[in-house]
Amino acid sequence: MKFVRSVSNQSVAQRISDDPQSRLAVEIIQRLRSEGHISYLAGGCVRDALLGRTPKDYDVATDARPEQIRKLFGFHRTLAIGAAFGVISVCSESQQKESPVEVATFRCDGIYSDGRRPDAVEFSSPAADAQRRDFTINGLFFDPASAEVIDFVGGLVDLTQCCIRAIGDAKSRFSEDKLRLLRAVRFATTYGFEIEEETKRAICQHAAEVTVCSGERIGAEMRRLLSSPNAGRGIQILHECRLAIPIMPQVGKGLKAASERDQLVRRLERMETSALPPRLALLALVSGQKSHVALAELAERWKLTNHECDASHAALNSYPILLNAHRLGWSQLQPLLIQRYVNAAVELARTMTIEFREGARGLERVEEALLFPTEQLNPPPLLTGDDLKRLGYRPGPSFKVILEGARAAQLDGKVQNRAQAEEWLAEHWLSERRGPERRGRGEQ
Ligand code: ATP
Ligand code: MG
Repeated sequence: MKFVRSVSNQSVAQRISDDPQSRLAVEIIQRLRSEGHISYLAGGCVRDALLGRTPKDYDVATDARPEQIRKLFGFHRTLAIGAAFGVISVCSESQQKESPVEVATFRCDGIYSDGRRPDAVEFSSPAADAQRRDFTINGLFFDPASAEVIDFVGGLVDLTQCCIRAIGDAKSRFSEDKLRLLRAVRFATTYGFEIEEETKRAICQHAAEVTVCSGERIGAEMRRLLSSPNAGRGIQILHECRLAIPIMPQVGKGLKAASERDQLVRRLERMETSALPPRLALLALVSGQKSHVALAELAERWKLTNHECDASHAALNSYPILLNAHRLGWSQLQPLLIQRYVNAAVELARTMTIEFREGARGLERVEEALLFPTEQLNPPPLLTGDDLKRLGYRPGPSFKVILEGARAAQLDGKVQNRAQAEEWLAEHWLSERRGPERRGRGEQ
């Protein structure tokens, strides 16, 4: 085989043993070995350890069959959710804290008829198992017992050359499973890698088919891409790979113009936070006047959470007002600063500052005000609805208007205590008070 290599790598061994998250996976491997099975760490965790990153999760690959794995670890410690694909989840002895580890039997995948998952799998050898994985950098195994990296696919070279390359024939790999299209772009973005030429050509050819993937899966990949410090470059790659329009039609169409694209890339590069809502708002701004419509489309397609939606809409609504804060009265600005999603709005405003005349002055006022102690930023109201009732006002639509007026007068310093608030009320809203005869009737 062209690439069969096993390279001893003590620093990877050290990194893995230093990571408490690897404990359960390493324990599982030792147990499988003690029963005479071949068993390795596999895929993303080996890639990340080689890159000096902390893996998100550890996966195990073995020649033990699913039923053998269940027997060995006991039914109480194993879950067979992925059994149809030869995957058993093994929990820790205490079944707490630690997430279960996916233990997969070496396999090759059968035909893919739904564009996402194989119809059936066949158990196989480590070499064949490496071939069914998506990219060479994800096709590596690591044997913790010998500290050896086992490379059947050329992943080690591609890792050092920062290259995302499909394993085998790129076109077939993308036509089998369309999620790989987006995974390639996500890895290129988050690791700062280049997508190899033929792999990229194949992505372009199959890009329109990405919509076969569920919204949740597309959303999960896009969240990771957008929250990367390289998100700007990620957008550029999405566009070059022709994936932008299929996954976000409104924004994607806007990005066809190089000027719009460059602007979004620059804005993403300037944005200091990795939080998703202000980043979604930046995407939506590509659609100009229709930014709220574009955001609603992302929410629907990527199955955004209510929090993500509400915070990004709030950011879009508030950021121009925040950048104009130095021209506003305190009673106009204050409600924006105590809203639930103020952080998203401030982050968006911060990113957009240099595009707004005097934006820096507005932002400065906002940032100062956000440091006020609570009793200054959001003092308790001097008048409430209950106060109005007690003072003889009839509950109804005017209550809201009266209370807003009273609050504005308080915030702007026109009334400073309860007595002044009541004076203000009598002066402005006496006509709304119940007449004595009606009060008499109502209280019978
Ligand atoms: P991360 O965990 O950082 O998202 P990962 O590559 O580890 O990245 P996982 O979903 O944990 O992703 O998958 C573990 C391994 O399974 C991958 O490294 C790869 O070898 C294989 N794999 C995952 N998804 C696919 C896929 N769609 N096609 C082929 N192989 C895949
Ligand atoms: Mg992983």
